[in-house]
This record gives sequence, C-alpha cells and structure tokens, in this order.
Amino acid sequence: MQKSFLPSFFLALLLLCGSSYAGGKHDFSFKVSRGDAFYKFFFSTGLSGELLTRLMSSDKRAQRLNNIFPGDKFRIILNDDHSLKEIVFSPLTENPLNIYYDGNNFTYEKNDARSNSGLAYTIVNIQKSLNFDAKKAGVDAEVVKMMVDHFSWELDFSRDLRKGDRFVLSWNGGKTPEAMIYIGDRKTIALFSHTDTQGRKKYYTANGLTINDTFAFAPVKYNRISSGFSKRRWHPTLKTYRPHRGTDFAAPTGTPVYAPAKGLVKYVATLSGYGNVIYLKHGSELVTVYAHLSRFAKGLKAGNRVKKGELIGYVGSTGMSTGPHLHYEIRINGIHKDAEKISLEKRSAVPNSKMSGFQKRAKRILFELNIK
Ligand SMILES: [Zn+2]
Repeated sequence: MQKSFLPSFFLALLLLCGSSYAGGKHDFSFKVSRGDAFYKFFFSTGLSGELLTRLMSSDKRAQRLNNIFPGDKFRIILNDDHSLKEIVFSPLTENPLNIYYDGNNFTYEKNDARSNSGLAYTIVNIQKSLNFDAKKAGVDAEVVKMMVDHFSWELDFSRDLRKGDRFVLSWNGGKTPEAMIYIGDRKTIALFSHTDTQGRKKYYTANGLTINDTFAFAPVKYNRISSGFSKRRWHPTLKTYRPHRGTDFAAPTGTPVYAPAKGLVKYVATLSGYGNVIYLKHGSELVTVYAHLSRFAKGLKAGNRVKKGELIGYVGSTGMSTGPHLHYEIRINGIHKDAEKISLEKRSAVPNSKMSGFQKRAKRILFELNIK
C-alpha cells in the first residue's frame, strides 16, 4: 500500500509542477478595435514569428486573418507546453473560422453554425462609395436607393462615410432585406423591417420608430402668411410677375427660426436675393430653405446636424425683401413644393400589439450578427 501510494503521490506532484511549469494562460480572447492587426494578438500569446510565417503561408484562407475589422473576435488556444493548438476567428458578420495546429500542419474548418440558423447576410464593405461597393457585393440598385433614403436621415453620405465602414443586410427571403445595419467608427444604425396587416413593409429602429422625422408645419411663430406659394405673383420690387416658390411667414425681426425636423445643415450663406439663407437637408430627397434672416444661430455651419425644434436663425429682411418675414421653401429632389399643401411622411411606429415580437426579432438579428 505504502509503496503504491508514494509513486502516485509523486506523479500527482509532478503533474502539478508540470502544469505550473508550463505556466499562465492557455486560452486568449481578443476583440478587434480600430487599428488592430492579427499579428499583435498572435505575438501577445508568446507565439513566434516563425510560426506566424508558416501559418500565413499554410493556406490562402489564412489571409483572411489580415483583413480584420472592429468588432471581430479571436480566440487563441495553446497546449500545456505553450505551443499553438487552435485559433478561432469570429468575424462580426461571418461564420467563425477554426484553424487547428498539430505541431506540423494547419487544418482549416469553417464553422457553419450560423448558416444553420437560416439567416443570410450581405456585407458591403465601404472602400469607395456605397453605390460602388454595394454593386460589387451584388446588392441591386433598388435596395441601395432604399438604404440611402433611410440612412440619410442620420448619415451624410458625402461627409460621414469612411473607408472600412460596413453595411450589413440580413435576408429572410424576398427582394428587400429583413434588416439593414450600418456599422461605422462612431455609430451603428440598425433598421429592422416590419410588415403591417396591409402587407406594407417598413423599416424601424430597434425602439420601433421609423428613422424619418415628422415635420412641424411652420419653422417659426408667425403672425400671418403674407404670401403663399404661387406660380405667378406680382413682385413689388422687380415690378414684374414672377413665381413665388415658397411661403412667407410674417413675423418681427429677431423672431427665432427653428428646424421643423431633424436634418443636416447643407449651406449657410449670404446671397443677393435670399439675403442670409440656410439650407437644411432631411433624408435623401428633401431640402428646406430659410431666407432673409437677420442673423444665424451662433456656431451654425454646414455639416452640423440639427434636431427638430433646434434654433437655426432669426427672422429679418436681408436680401431682396420688402419687410421682416421668413421666406420658407420645401424642395423634393430639387422641385419646389407648396408648404401649405404638401403632406410629408410622418414618423410612425410599430403597433403596440406587435412591438414585443418586433423587438425580440430585432434582438435576435443583432445577436446572430454578433453586433453589440
Ligand atoms: Zn417669399
């Protein structure tokens, strides 16, 4: 008894010492941030440059490890002796790739757990522009237009889009995606479809609201409409008939002017006819114009984003104007519209009775896509 006890005791001690000799961690997890590179993670586990070179030349699939983006994840698993056992690469929006190492050879295995869940994705990785890169990714023009129409409410495609930003489309049959998600450096905008009882499909943010904004009728507290939209109006200064392609709200000089809906400041300038003028862009097609202002809100400049109800300027009579008023225009794709008659799409919500199902589905999609 004594004889057999001792050796097994020493064996246990040896095993304990053996594992403590090998030391520390054997399982490393990494999440990619901007500017990260795979080799940094690889070296931080103590693995050698020589092994990295062998890994990279082992298969063309290894090149995928050099093409990583914020949000992607890695796991590097080592054997007890600190040699490489396995690398698990989990890109944000693709199936994980497992690479096993037996000391001589690397074996690759694409884990398709996610494709079993039935979700299909398209990833548009921005290198040039949404139009260019979406076409390259096989997204048809109609869907691209839909993406622009929606995301333009929160994203200025000419200023905000960066190389490396991504759009993810999740498909569930049909010609339009189930979800459209923008993943940028500074923000993520996720939109999910909901089809109403009449079969109309719309996109909503995770809180169940459409991304557009409801317009206030007037951007100013006014006394009266001194001149409406008309194709032929006597112009007292020019002494001729000219179209009046806006609505004049009479109000005292200095009356604050507010953005009637969230938007982007496109243009702040002083022109001969309009005087001090502001152009706001709302979504992809709609522009509003505010003319004859006495002054602009402090700090207002092109590129600013404004909220609904945010101060943008003050009523005045600058430019070609006969008295203090706000000249207000609404243009859709460059065509002037009558602010008194037009009915613009309001912000809408997923009905209460459908909300919990909608939000569950939205959460599931984000989870499957490994977002947040
Ligand atoms: Zn006018």
